Amino acid sequence: MKANARILLVEDEPSIADNIQYALKAASFEVDWSASGQEALRAFSNQTPDLVILDIGLPDMDGFEVCRKLRALSDLPILFLSARSDEIDRVVGLELGADDYICKPFSPRELVARVKANLRRTQLTVAAESGQALKKVGQLSVDVTSRIVQFSGETVDVTRYEFGILEVLIEHPKRVYSREELLVKVWSEPDSSADRVVDTHIKTLRAKLKSIDANTEIIKTHRGIGYSLGDC
Ligand code: CA
Repeated sequence: MKANARILLVEDEPSIADNIQYALKAASFEVDWSASGQEALRAFSNQTPDLVILDIGLPDMDGFEVCRKLRALSDLPILFLSARSDEIDRVVGLELGADDYICKPFSPRELVARVKANLRRTQLTVAAESGQALKKVGQLSVDVTSRIVQFSGETVDVTRYEFGILEVLIEHPKRVYSREELLVKVWSEPDSSADRVVDTHIKTLRAKLKSIDANTEIIKTHRGIGYSLGDC
């Protein structure tokens, strides 16, 4: 990860903004704070941040509108903050181009983990665009730029998290990734005890690959350890 990535924090509640700034600075990020949408748009053009943390409830315009305006200018990662589940439904449903969201209240540690994960994803994409977009293991190919997965020449329709898992596994084929590592890298929740979420997505992913080649064992289970990709 690039040293001292710059974060634009858009949050009108000073006490929350203080906590977030403290946590991000402790993790060596540079932080600019805006307390309104207008201020955020100004700060955005002056500072060119690497990532934006965007509260939805702002005094002058809502976070959705700020997101739309930012998206017209840039595809940098945007992490929404929300206290309300109906807002989260909108984030997920509208696909505004928000990369992630986090519900209030959250722990500063969780937020920092999410910020890092989103920056890492962007940097993977940048690395991909600089020439290593298409990765292959056996019959499986993953294009991390276009996010197209193909298996035995057929395009596989994968969900965001299934893609995330493949993207991590194919980075170092044959290396075994534990469920915890996959959780951190794909879901960015190191404290989560929901190991089963990884197993569930691996299961649906395998089913999709097996619908193309019933005998494929390309995703390997290492009992008690985790998962890897293999070509035999
Ligand atoms: Ca607010």
